[in-house]
Amino acid sequence: MTDSICYRDAYARSVEATVRAVEAGDAGATLVVLDRTVFYPGGGGQPSDRGLLLRASDGRRWVVRTARKSGGDIVHELETGPPGDAGASAGPVDPPAVGDRLQADLDWARRHALMRTHTALHALCGVVWRDYGALVTGGNMEPGTGRMDFEFERMSGDLVDRIEATVNAELAQGREVRVNVLPREEAFAIPDLIRTKVNLLPPGIGEIRTIEIVGLDLQADGGTHVANTREVGAIRVTGYESKGRINKRIRIALDEPV
Ligand SMILES: [Zn+2]
Repeated sequence: MTDSICYRDAYARSVEATVRAVEAGDAGATLVVLDRTVFYPGGGGQPSDRGLLLRASDGRRWVVRTARKSGGDIVHELETGPPGDAGASAGPVDPPAVGDRLQADLDWARRHALMRTHTALHALCGVVWRDYGALVTGGNMEPGTGRMDFEFERMSGDLVDRIEATVNAELAQGREVRVNVLPREEAFAIPDLIRTKVNLLPPGIGEIRTIEIVGLDLQADGGTHVANTREVGAIRVTGYESKGRINKRIRIALDEPV
């Protein structure tokens, strides 16, 4: 199993690691498994990280274009661009070898934007649930922009303006964001978690990771978030639309460019 540092320390952007496996992926891609990594493998609406693998012994570097879970491991997929690409290597030509010591480095600007965006979406969920009792049914994000779907029959333009102002007031309060790992039974006893469909988690999972914006929102969640809502800044609602009579979508963007 890969030691997946992002789940306990979202601010770790670099780690020294040993190559455990190198495999061929689809379309000539090279897949690298390390004993530990800071890369988030994607999931829960948050895209996977990008970044670099660096070999100090000869200065060689590889661009990681995506990462994903495979069993208990996190697989890093290397860029296969033509040789001589800006900073990139031709992935399959000369991959790292099992046993190599590498440094795994995130594209931190991108990851941090995702952490801010992800936390903003939790604040949005928390406000919409607390003030309107609307359940979230799905969501997705890119660095700096995101969308959430709600069972929210009476959503309107006026309401959306009010929601934007309320979310920004909550973010500005500087609420702490906590990560907890709870035994399954304990997590199931928290009424707030039921609305995020914690009961859909496979029975084999004995522990549940929760993200709490203290005083505002609590969800079962696998992503990466900032430690305080002040770090998000402010959001703008950039659109809303009906996806049916009941299902509505709200789009947001972080207020400052990322
Ligand atoms: Zn989250």
